[in-house]
Amino acid sequence: MAFKPVVTLVGRPNVGKSTLFNRLTRSRAALVADFAGLTRDRHYGEGRVGDIPFIVVDTGGFEPVAKTGILHHMARQTEQAIAESDVVIFLVDARAGLNAHDQDIASLLRKSGQKVLLCVNKAEGMSHTAAVAEFHELGLGEPHAISASHGDGVMSLIEEALSSFAPQGSSGQALDDQDTPELIDGDKHRIKLAIVGRPNVGKSTLINTLVGENRVIAFDLPGTTRDAIEVEFERDGRQYTLIDTAGLRRRGKVFEAVEKFSVIKTLQAIEACNVVLLMLDAQQEISDQDAHIAGFVVESGRALVVAINKWDNADSERRERIKREFDRKLKFLSFAKVHTISALRGQGVNVVMKSVVAAHSAAFAKLSTPKLTRVLQDAVIQQPPPRKGIFRPKMRYAHQGGQNPPRIIVHGNALDAIANPYRRYLESKFRDAFELAGTPLRIEFKSSH
Ligand code: GDP
Ligand code: GDP
Repeated sequence: MAFKPVVTLVGRPNVGKSTLFNRLTRSRAALVADFAGLTRDRHYGEGRVGDIPFIVVDTGGFEPVAKTGILHHMARQTEQAIAESDVVIFLVDARAGLNAHDQDIASLLRKSGQKVLLCVNKAEGMSHTAAVAEFHELGLGEPHAISASHGDGVMSLIEEALSSFAPQGSSGQALDDQDTPELIDGDKHRIKLAIVGRPNVGKSTLINTLVGENRVIAFDLPGTTRDAIEVEFERDGRQYTLIDTAGLRRRGKVFEAVEKFSVIKTLQAIEACNVVLLMLDAQQEISDQDAHIAGFVVESGRALVVAINKWDNADSERRERIKREFDRKLKFLSFAKVHTISALRGQGVNVVMKSVVAAHSAAFAKLSTPKLTRVLQDAVIQQPPPRKGIFRPKMRYAHQGGQNPPRIIVHGNALDAIANPYRRYLESKFRDAFELAGTPLRIEFKSSH
């Protein structure tokens, strides 16, 4: 299985990186508008050209500091992002012209050995030749002239960036739930699990507990850096594929994470799996990094189980504190089961894995139209949707529009008037009726007039 290609945007401040980022990832924003308190990291997003989904990274932190030179101050994260990308889009500014910082960045990119597309932004209203002329000397090939804010040239730029990546096979991973393909049978029963969390929460410890106790069927080494490392194992008669987030290596009988923590690997694993196990550390505060990872999971629509690890080492005050923090900072994860565990001692692991199985079933549940419609009608009788002006929304029936995550489409009249509180009310009714714990649930309204 191949990960999605990673396209990284690099350039000094103000050249238009975030404008281009928003244009490339725009279509995703609407899907997740509904989660209160969701922490989004606007440096990572997902885009799609034709059949090719890709990850976009905006290295916004690339701040040049005049005195000591840009290279010294280049965030380590930016270097890591460049190293982990498949294609770098290097933006410069047609209006500001060539700049010394551009030269510095260019030489760094040439040394990186990565595929780089030089992109001259803000070129609207200029001739191509005039816009790109002075940038040839950066020695990064023929520049592309674009306008990120108007959209000119963006499509052909991204098409060229992705030209060497074939569309992904139908492994059921399509994020775009409009066209989630039917899963092939074998895939339906196998749980693709990604264990994610920031460094030192105990991911490797848990992986070793899981695969150590159980039969390891196969261990796939990647063919290329874009291939996922997968460990197949069997537990309680179930087949699992563990998708690695940190470069697992096998040392004798144990697996070791040999690479440092990588946001991109985490993102890729989230998108390649169908259930995420998010680990938190009971000994630490819940950090922004935890919240960002949680935000990625919600945006991806994956089923989720949360494990708060190192419970063995937390006193009662600590335990109370992390629970309160969880409710405050990660309340958008309320659809997920939360367990307290000790990966080191193997405590709580069985219960977590039961929730993983339940979350997987919920994500792929088949929801019948008659039952959906009955639940809808009962919910409306119990509490009719509020009138908006002279319109009284009228709900007629509901059917399932997709799986992983389940999408429920409600048909009727004047449904544009339905506000979020009522949507959440319906969601909880559907969740209870179909026992949909552990998966996000998307409800859409379609009005006939
Ligand atoms: P970043 O710092 O590299 O992320 O740059 P931004 O995306 O924040 O853009 C910096 C400024 O340039 C903003 O005022 C944008 O509106 C403007 N900008 C971005 N793209 C274009 C473009 O294609 N044409 C013009 N004229 N302005 C642009
Ligand atoms: P990773 O970076 O997320 O893979 O974390 P590791 O699995 O390498 O664990 C980091 C440290 O936490 C190691 O020293 C582990 O022994 C320790 N650790 C992991 N799980 C537990 C646990 O359940 N309880 C305690 N007390 N320590 C743990």
